[in-house]
Amino acid sequence: MQNGPKFRMTRQRQVILEALQRYNTHPSADEVYEMVRAELPRISLGTVYRNLEILTELGEIQTLTLSGSMKRFDGNPKKHYHIRCTRCDQVDDAPIAPLNRLEDDLYGATVYTIIGHRLEFLGLCPECTKIVKEETDHIPEIAGEHI
Ligand SMILES: [Zn+2]
Ligand SMILES: [Zn+2]
Repeated sequence: MQNGPKFRMTRQRQVILEALQRYNTHPSADEVYEMVRAELPRISLGTVYRNLEILTELGEIQTLTLSGSMKRFDGNPKKHYHIRCTRCDQVDDAPIAPLNRLEDDLYGATVYTIIGHRLEFLGLCPECTKIVKEETDHIPEIAGEHI
């Protein structure tokens, strides 16, 4: 940790933030690096990563740690849920309001002080749904073959 104005909005940080706000794909650090390289040809992956951490500390973005997935970054800092394709790992926003009532329901029912919750939906994206459906359609009839 260095002293000084570490929370200053540098140009690098601004470019990274704008890239995340423009694409709602919840990219990994590597993907963010690829996204900003055209505009910041001299930036390193390490610097991208550090800037993503600072932007998260600043509350400008969110760092997502989804199950079975690498760290991803979200240009929308507001609380919202995600849906993840279990086949290709694509992540999208789940169009549902945060269920704050869940925490109220737990209040008094546990000795824990509840500070939040995480909820992740799992599914198949439209592409994968199509592929899986085609695969299943082509499975030959095996019923009764192995008794
Ligand atoms: Zn998929
Ligand atoms: Zn999101």
